[in-house]
Amino acid sequence: MNLILFGPPAAGKGTQAKRLVDARKMVQLSTGDMLRAAIASGSALGKRVSGIMERGDLVSDAIVIELIEARLPEADAAGGAIFDGFPRNVAQAEALDEMLATRGAKIDLVVRLKVDDPALMQRIAGRFAESGRPDDNPESFKVRLDAYNTQTAPLLPYYQSQGKLVEVDGMGSVDAVAAAIDKALDA
Ligand code: AMP
Repeated sequence: MNLILFGPPAAGKGTQAKRLVDARKMVQLSTGDMLRAAIASGSALGKRVSGIMERGDLVSDAIVIELIEARLPEADAAGGAIFDGFPRNVAQAEALDEMLATRGAKIDLVVRLKVDDPALMQRIAGRFAESGRPDDNPESFKVRLDAYNTQTAPLLPYYQSQGKLVEVDGMGSVDAVAAAIDKALDA
């Protein structure tokens, strides 16, 4: 099963992906986590992307496509993966379809977590105060939300036309959202 957890920043994708990893032994492929690890390691890639990420802009397609491709053997071994934060635009979605097709696989389900903007703003203010993640500051978050609305949300019709899109109310508690995702996965 290849699943995309889809939604704006702070919708709860990472939280729900980690729960599925624990509960269902699925593999999580988060490009955001991979990029933050590159920054933490002080690698050349980390140095290239840190300013871009801090501003809230998207890094280049080539970088994230390469990061995902390098991790696809893990997905093969596990019988699929949860894609979290990837794809972020149509070019990335098409690249993912191609990479999976060459391995005899495909995206099975796209779960969209729906959370309205005021709730996202409220969550992010709390997360910034707690973790101090640099791109959670109000200016960068606005850029990230704009990037979602202009580049990522247009992917919804792409998956809807393939009959793969399921919408889940992401405004409830973590447990309520988890239950809704489980229902979609088991349908
Ligand atoms: P995330 O943790 O998914 O919110 O990602 C944090 C940041 O990493 C984003 O604001 C982008 O700068 C970068 N990033 C993560 N995934 C992607 C992607 N698929 N395409 C481009 N940039 C990405």
